[in-house]
Formats: sequence, structure tokens, C-alpha cells
Amino acid sequence: MAHRTDASPDAVPHVAPPVVTPHWHALEVAEVARLLTSDTVHGLSAADATARLAQYGANELGSASERSALRIAVHQFRNILVLLLAVASALAFAFGDAIEALAILLVIVLNASVGFFTEWRAAGALEGLRRQELKQARVRRNGTDLLVPVQTLVPGDLLLIGAGDRVPADARIAQAATLRVDEASLTGESVPSDKSADTLADAHTVLGDRANVVFAGTIVTEGRGEAMVVATGMTTELGRIGMMLDDVQEQGTPLERKLDALNRVLMVLVLALCCVIVLLGWVRGHALLEMVRIGVSLAIAAVPEGLLAVTTMTLAIGMQRMAKMHALVRRLPAVEALGSTTVICTDKTGTLTRNEMTVRALHVGGRHVDLAGSGYAPDGEFSESGTPVVVATDDSAGDNDALLLALRIGALCNDSSVDRTVDPPAILGDPTEAALIVAAEKAHLEHAQLQQQFPRVHEIPFNSDTKRMVTVHGTPDSRRVAFAKGSPAALLDMSTMTIIAGQPAPLTDAGRAEWTATNNSLAGQALRVLALGFRYVDHHASTNDVVDDDALNAGFTLVGFAAMSDPLRDGVRDTVATCQGAGIRVIMVTGDQQVTAEAIARELGLDRAADGTATRVVHARELDALDDAGWTSVAHEAAVLARVSPAHKMRLVKALQDSGEVVAMTGDGVNDAPALRTADIGVAMGIRGTDVAKDAADMVITDDDFTTIVRAVEQGRMIVSNILRFIHYLFSCNFAELLVVFIPVMIGWPLPLGVLQILWLNMLTDIFPALALALEPSAPGVMTRPPRDPRAPLMTWKFGGLIAWQGTVLAACTLVAFRIALGWHGETGEGLRRAETVAFMTLALAQVFHALNARSTHRSIFSRDLFTNAWLWAALVLCFALQAAAVYLPALRAVLDTTILNQRDVLLVLTASLCPVIVVELAKAVRRVTLTR
Ligand code: ADP
Ligand code: MG
Repeated sequence: MAHRTDASPDAVPHVAPPVVTPHWHALEVAEVARLLTSDTVHGLSAADATARLAQYGANELGSASERSALRIAVHQFRNILVLLLAVASALAFAFGDAIEALAILLVIVLNASVGFFTEWRAAGALEGLRRQELKQARVRRNGTDLLVPVQTLVPGDLLLIGAGDRVPADARIAQAATLRVDEASLTGESVPSDKSADTLADAHTVLGDRANVVFAGTIVTEGRGEAMVVATGMTTELGRIGMMLDDVQEQGTPLERKLDALNRVLMVLVLALCCVIVLLGWVRGHALLEMVRIGVSLAIAAVPEGLLAVTTMTLAIGMQRMAKMHALVRRLPAVEALGSTTVICTDKTGTLTRNEMTVRALHVGGRHVDLAGSGYAPDGEFSESGTPVVVATDDSAGDNDALLLALRIGALCNDSSVDRTVDPPAILGDPTEAALIVAAEKAHLEHAQLQQQFPRVHEIPFNSDTKRMVTVHGTPDSRRVAFAKGSPAALLDMSTMTIIAGQPAPLTDAGRAEWTATNNSLAGQALRVLALGFRYVDHHASTNDVVDDDALNAGFTLVGFAAMSDPLRDGVRDTVATCQGAGIRVIMVTGDQQVTAEAIARELGLDRAADGTATRVVHARELDALDDAGWTSVAHEAAVLARVSPAHKMRLVKALQDSGEVVAMTGDGVNDAPALRTADIGVAMGIRGTDVAKDAADMVITDDDFTTIVRAVEQGRMIVSNILRFIHYLFSCNFAELLVVFIPVMIGWPLPLGVLQILWLNMLTDIFPALALALEPSAPGVMTRPPRDPRAPLMTWKFGGLIAWQGTVLAACTLVAFRIALGWHGETGEGLRRAETVAFMTLALAQVFHALNARSTHRSIFSRDLFTNAWLWAALVLCFALQAAAVYLPALRAVLDTTILNQRDVLLVLTASLCPVIVVELAKAVRRVTLTR
């Protein structure tokens, strides 16, 4: 938690010019509205809001420092490679070889350009994602509640805030219900403060005590409220102390750190080997300075300097691809962790299901009434065993017409609304609640009219621990009535009465058993069951006291159940099967009842594990009694956790992690934040999720769909395998280059490659195919194998061996061609130059073809996806052209010291450079055969 800082909120603002603002907290709400020419009931008009936006500017703080192009450029010149190149260039000058010296300087520029491009691309991708994180606020304009981008908020706007919101602007509270706000980000105070609409007497109250103002950047932890915006953007208290809320973070990912370490080791090895080559060559009779130049250029070629930049770019571009698939990754390391995910713990409602609730039946007073209709359309008949039922719309039937009462409770104990001005109707708030409003509308009970008849005076908001919500209303006959809705268990707990045959009756044990049986049969049909109840709390209209909350915990009359359907999302069953094939377990973690959860798990195929054994369904009641060992077995066996509260989610993540799993956990509410933070991949829901959950998450799913999570996992796996492809290619090429110089020095041949030729290979033929490999768009079979262990080292013996033998094959083919050419043309003068050109061309083209090998460690080049990577083909064509130019362009021929080859030479080059492809193909074929056996 943050601590109180020295930055006194009353310090002279140093960002925005000082503005004389009224002491909003010391003014009556009506006065605030008057000063801002707004309205505490209807809010601003849309026209006013637009005009004010032009006048006051967007509601945003200065953005966090971007990585400037200049900084990225400068960064390119601060590495060991540039130093080596500078040495090489100086040596060339010392030899009086000005052309070579200039060529090396050009290489420095080229190298920096490639580095710049990759880093800049990565930074651009990250910046784009930062902007994409659109935040919305609920406001009331023209008397209608709407969602608007937070940037468009203006002073005078009537803001609606609720638990889980990050307050988007400074606002004076007009109405509050158990509103509590965590102001740590502003004042450092870590205990949430209670907020109310009461005017403060003292105009000089300090920020932390202004209980009737909410401040931008703080977090609503509980309750609900309406508040009038008094300051936006840089004029908010947050803006005035010059704070920034930096959301997407950049930090080294575990993969990057592993690569960095690998890089260091390789650097030392390469430098040592180059020293050996220089000394050996000298001993063998080559000129020392010539050998030093060769050694330096080899070191340049073999140090995999671009590795980190390319990795970062691959991760960043991957994030961009994922964003297009509705998965916004907020932290770079998450991309990698996604690829290693072994367990996905997911919500049920809205993630596995569509969260399109429709009340299918009401069970009241022993009657079972079915509702027709679909979606949020307000039409649908009520019927009882097929006979139409007419619902009374007034109290003529008395208080005890249970059906009318149940519909009223559902619609009034409710914070949501249905917007019928758009088509299809939009719902604002919770679909569970919207469904209840629609059910009432089907009986011709208008929501707005009900709200007028029964004005709300008090409430206890819903939370997923208590699993219920209570509101208190005035009645037309001036009484006070409390309405409650929540899970059947919660309502049975707080009720002592029920209604039987239209008459109130005590809730006996037998009665409870009957209600429970009804609940089980409804829930067993995969329906979500919500219980509805009421009680009178105060018979004296004269007393205007706030109702005692204790009275709202007990003494209710259970009126009935509303049973709603919520269809599964399209394709989610297949996605669950995909997960099983990919070695990923899915655990459904829901606040809903066990019976409903079980029914849905069956529909999803979650009732069987990948190996066909039955999975466990665990009720929260059992969880509470578990010790560590118990949790471990739950972590291993459970597929469904029902009735859980956020604390259980947290415990589950820990238990799973203790058993070595990499856990993705979804969440949407305020209380989910700790579990989201603890999970390896915290996944927040973009539509349903609160700001708090999104802030705590590593990834935000903008369509709330479970399938999107799994597609993100697939992308994560692909990205990691692309990076491995890139490493496979680059390292085997670099190793080949080292060998091609090292072996001749050892056995006393002439040198096959010149300084600039080595640099050329390193800058052009290595880089372009390698970059293209890092951008492979698809990877067949990536979801048919088990996840990668994130703790496994990057460079395993197996992987290193693969790189070593393939590099050796490349080098061997080059050296054989060189030897043959030496035989044909002689070992001195023009003959040697011919042979050198043959070696240079062979290695270059062999590397180009080898890029096709490196696409897969086991699939043949000629499998169906030969042409799926357009980048790769572009790179190969480019390299071919460059390589031809190296020989046939007179200027390049002079600089690179090559010579024109005859037909026989060309044939030799082509044959030798295709050899590695043949050898690797054969090896893959052998591997496939031995594997299938
Ligand atoms: P889930 O959405 O996975 O069912 P929640 O924690 O959101 O989990 O809800 C837990 C239970 O609380 C639900 O099964 C339902 O019985 C009840 N509930 C959900 N939403 C509301 C609401 N708005 N008002 C009252 N009760 C609710
Ligand atoms: Mg819910």
C-alpha cells in the first residue's frame, strides 16, 4: 500500500495554472448544480456536454513518457557489437583500405537501422495497445443513463458510480448508498473512506476528510452513488499533483531475461573461440593483423546481438495480433506465461455462458408459472401448465398476490435498466437484474412507474460474499417495505415466513425442504435460480430515520424463485475439448449453486478429465473445512467449484501454483483483484469487469468469451515457438560461419571468407530470414501438445544439439564446395578468389534454404503450410537478389572481392547449398518414423 507522501494536495499546482475553484464540499448539492448550470436529477443535456467538452478539453492526464525515437536510436549504438565494428573499421584504415573501412561504417549504420526498426516497432505496438484500453464511465444526460468514454466527461456531468469503478473525475456526491472509496492513490490512506452527500461546514477541510467528494483515480470499493463532476483532466486533484496512472507496463519478461543470460554466455564463448582462431591462424603462417581482422569480423558475425530486440518485437507484435482477437495483454511477460498455461480457472456466467438471462419460470406460493418470450423483448405470455395466467397489475388482489409481488421485488430490488430507445434493447448493468425487469414488463409493470410508486430510500448492495441484495422502499400507503433478492440459500437463511395459497404462513422445516427441492429441480435443468423476499420494516410513516441494517438481515417472507436460462456461448464446448487436447485443465469457478454448475459442466464436457476419469465437483462448504493437503487434492481433481467467494479463488490459485501449475484465473468484481494479481495470468472481463479487476489483470478479454482466452493461449504458445525458431535459425547459421573459418585455419587451408563477406552474411542473409521466421503466422499442432514448462531452460541439450548438427551440415557443405573449387581453380590468386566466391555463395544460399528447414523441427518443408509465411518468401527472394548482386553488380563485386562464376561453379554452388535441406529433410523423416512407431 502507498503511504502518505510529502506532496501536500494543497501545494501550489505546478502542472495546470492555478484556478480559483469554489470549495465544492462546503456547498449544498443544489448550489453546486446551480454554479455548474446542471441538474441533479437529469444531468446535463447532450448539447451542453458537447459544448463543454470543447470548452474544458478532454478529461485526461498527460500520458506517460513514450519511448522517443531519439532514445531508441541512441540505444542502438551502445553495445559491444558497435565497438567491435569500430575496431574493425579502424583496422581497415590502418591497412590503408579505405573502402573496407567505409563499408564497415555502413554496416554499423545498417545494423543500427535494423535494431532501431525492431525496437521502434515494438514500442509502437505497445503504445497502440495502451491507447486501445478504452475506459468508460456511466453518466446521466437528458435524464437517460449512458456509458461514455471517460475522456468526454465534463464539469456538470452527473456521474453514476458503483463498486469496482475507478472514479474518472472529481465529483461532488449528490446521493450515496453505503459508498466507500479507497483513496490510497491520492492521499496514501489505505483504509477506504465512507462517503455521503452531506455538506461539510468547514471550507478548509483537508482532502482526505472531504467525505462528500470523490476524486479522480480513487477506487469505489463498496456501494453506489451519484455525483456531479466538478473538475476534469489536469484540474482534478490527481492532475494537480502531477500524477500519472500508468497502465500498460513494460518490464523484462522471463524469456527476455533468459535470452540475456544466454547472450552473455555465448558472447564469452564466441570471443574466446575467435581468439583461438586468430592465434592458430598466426601460428599457421597467416599475417597476424589479417587474422585479427578476420577474428573481429567473425566475432561480429557470431554474437547474436539482435536476439533481444527481435524477441521484444515478436512479443509486441504478438500482443497486437491478440488485441485483434479481443485479448488485450497488459504486460509483456503475460504473453509468455500464456503460452505455458496449464490450468484455466474460469467464471461460469458470461464467460462460458452468454450472460443473456431470460426468466423462464417463476415459482410462487406453490404455483409454477412459465414465461414465454426471448431476449430482452418485453413480450411473452405467462402460463401455468399450458393455461394462460393474467397477472394483476395493481393491488386489488391484496398484498399477497405472490406473483405480482415477486415481479415487483425483482424489478425494484434492482440497479440495472433496459434502454429501449435502441434496437435491440441495450441493458445497462447486470443481465440477471435486467431479466427481472423484462419479466415484470411482460406483465405490463413499467419499470419507471414502479420506481415512482415505490421510491427507494435505502439499500444494502449486492456482493458476491453475501450473495444477496436488499432495498428499502416507500409504498403508496406510506409504509416502508424491504425487498430482497439473492441466492436461494441466502434468502432461506434470512426468511421466517413464506406465502402459501395467497396467505402468509410460517416457514417450517418441511417448507424449507420443499423450497430446497424446488430449487434443486430448477437448478438441475441448468437454470440460474434467484430467490425473492420482502418484509415490512417500519410502520410509522412519520419517522424518517435510516432503517437499521440489522433489521434487514432477518424476518423476511420468502415469496418465490425466479429461474433464468443463460445459454452456453457458441463453440465453448469445442474450446473445452481443445484445452483437454492441449494439456490444459479447465476449472469452472462459480458463485452459482452446485446443481446448476454441475448441469452446465455436463453440457460442457467438464465432467470428465482428458483421460476419461470423472472429475470432482466441490461445494464451498467443503472448501472451508480443508487443510493444505485437502486443497492440494482439490487442485488436482476438481473441475467445478460451486458457491465460491473471492477468497476461495485466491486460495485455489495458491494451491494450484504450489503444485507447480501455471494458472490463468478470470475475474470481474472488486474482490477478485487479489486472485487476479496472484494468478500467473489474471484475466479480467472487458464488458462485465470492474475497473479494479481490469487494473489488477494481466489480460483483458474485450468480448468476455472463454474461447478468446484459449485463443490467447494458442497465440502465446505460437509466439514462444516463433522465438525458438528464430534462435534455431540464427544460431545454426552463426555456428556454421564460425566453423567455416575455424576448420580451414585448423587444417591449414586458405581462408574461405573475407572480412566483408562475413559481415555481409551476418547483416543480410542472416537477418531477413530470421526476422521473417519470428513472424510465422501459424503453427499447426501447437494446441495438440502439452504446455511448455516455463522453468525449463531455453537452451536444452536437445535444442543445442539440433543447432550444432545442422550448423555443422551447413559448414560441411560449404567447405566441400570450397575444396572442390580449390581443386578446379588452384589455391592462389584469381583461382583462390574463385574458390572463395564459391564458398561465400554456397554458405549464403545454404542459409537462405535453411530458413525453410528452421520453420519446424519435425514437419517436412513440403507440408501444406509451405507458403503461409509471406514474409519468409519475401525475405528469401530478397536474399537471392542481394546474393546475385554481390557477384554481378560491379561495385559490390569490387567491395566484396568476389568474381564472376562459370556455369560449372554455379552448379556446384546450387548443389552444395541444397544439400543441407536434403539432409535435414531425411533426418526429419527418420524422426517421424521413429516417433510414430
Ligand atoms: P456467478 O455470477 O458466477 O453466479 P456471483 O458471485 O456473481 O457468481 O453471484 C453469486 C450468486 O449471487 C448468484 O448465483 C445469484 O444467486 C446471486 N446473485 C447474482 N447477482 C445478483 C444480484 N444482482 N442481486 C442479488 N443476487 C444476485
Ligand atoms: Mg456474477
